[in-house]
Amino acid sequence: MASIEENLNTVIKNIEDACRRVGRNPKNVTLIAVSKTKPIELLEQVYNCNIREFGENYVQELTDKIECMPNDIKWHMIGHLQRNKVKYIIDKVAMIHSVDSLRLAEEISKEAVKKNVVANILIEVNVGLEDSKFGVMVQEVEAFIQEAAKLPSICIRGLMTSAPFVQNPEDNRELFKKLAQLCIDIKDKNIDNSTMDVLSMGMTNDYIVAVEEGATMVRVGTAIFGARDYNK
Ligand SMILES: *Cc1c(COP(=O)(O)O)cnc(C)c1O
Repeated sequence: MASIEENLNTVIKNIEDACRRVGRNPKNVTLIAVSKTKPIELLEQVYNCNIREFGENYVQELTDKIECMPNDIKWHMIGHLQRNKVKYIIDKVAMIHSVDSLRLAEEISKEAVKKNVVANILIEVNVGLEDSKFGVMVQEVEAFIQEAAKLPSICIRGLMTSAPFVQNPEDNRELFKKLAQLCIDIKDKNIDNSTMDVLSMGMTNDYIVAVEEGATMVRVGTAIFGARDYNK
């Protein structure tokens, strides 16, 4: 079995190669190590390979890990977020990727004002699949951002999506292309408090295609840490 360091080097090289193929600068792609369910020892190994961006899905696990890990890490909340848990993470994370309702955006704004921080958020887009429960529908994203951007202490940095698991990652290419275009179209509207410079898409199965289509953040778990065991 490959070590975590070897896994990481492979992922980083794949990202660089994908960038080269389409004339992008690899500096414009941030690798987020998705560490959910994984023990601190493994996060430390990744940290020691100079990775400073980690993604987690569950609030309790996220706050526990923040306590244990060095404080120069940028933490990304990538999982579905309940409104009553916003207060536990608002001043601890660099970005919340999974904002998919106005009520959640309002709660984030309220807590950000209270803690005197600006919350960097991404709008989670439902790319129209029946099996994804979360996310704003593509045709509603712009109107959603127009509304959410009015809230104080929020900066809408861009879009996030989770594509379906497909045997052939090429099958997600059109969808990534569509999301990248949507991000550009909304950026062109110059909406206050929105920068639209972040496109968070691509996971273990399809991050290479996502980078070719313009992802600026990829969220990779399994390819770095190995398969997850949810039964522990
Ligand atoms: C778990 C998860 C990932 C990482 O998935 P892998 O397939 O293990 O790379 C990325 N994004 C989200 C939202 C996740 O929940």
